Amino acid sequence: MWVLGLTGGIGSGKTAASDFFASKGITVVDADIVAREVVEPGQPAWQAIKDRFGDQALLADNSLNRAWLREKVFAEPEERKWLESQTHPRIRDNIIRQLQQATSAYAILVSPLLFESGQALLTQHTLLIDVAEDIQIARATSRDQNNADQIRRIIAAQMSRAERRSRADDIADNSLGLAELHQQLELLHSSYLLRAASQ
Ligand code: ATP
Repeated sequence: MWVLGLTGGIGSGKTAASDFFASKGITVVDADIVAREVVEPGQPAWQAIKDRFGDQALLADNSLNRAWLREKVFAEPEERKWLESQTHPRIRDNIIRQLQQATSAYAILVSPLLFESGQALLTQHTLLIDVAEDIQIARATSRDQNNADQIRRIIAAQMSRAERRSRADDIADNSLGLAELHQQLELLHSSYLLRAASQ
């Protein structure tokens, strides 16, 4: 399977872009969704977390108490390492399995941490959805009710725009409207069909 890695900072338009490719029949695997799936109640990683931390790591409905876990691994780096050792390999395995099951002409892996996490290694080609920081902040705040400072902190913790731009094979500018984004993605989609067919 020829796999496109799709990335971008918070509020850059990754979902808007992956929705476009999905409308063309392309299978989209979202790394954030897979990361949640591997810790659903009853899954091996969920069981391991429950065994290690007990019920304090769970909410009343047995789902993970993410706020508690976040604080725990923030305070104790060794616990972060342990948690990642339980979740990261399973996320990777599930991403690979879902990509292999795709029946479309090519498949897409959407990940905000495509370059940071090493997930780019699972892809043949990468596409960055790119906007300036002020647009990221404006769109992310109007969508999530997060305040601008929270979004700025998240942007500061993510890979810099310049670094992403230098790593990506293709860049789509999402600073204008959705029609302008779709126009660029239409051309890129044609090029990906050719690449996938000729590999
Ligand atoms: P996150 O990483 O935070 O999940 P994302 O990269 O998936 O974000 P989207 O959810 O696609 O980004 O877009 C962020 C917000 O901006 C959404 O409310 C979306 O509808 C809006 N948006 C995306 N692209 C455009 C555009 N070209 N014009 C106007 N609004 C847009």
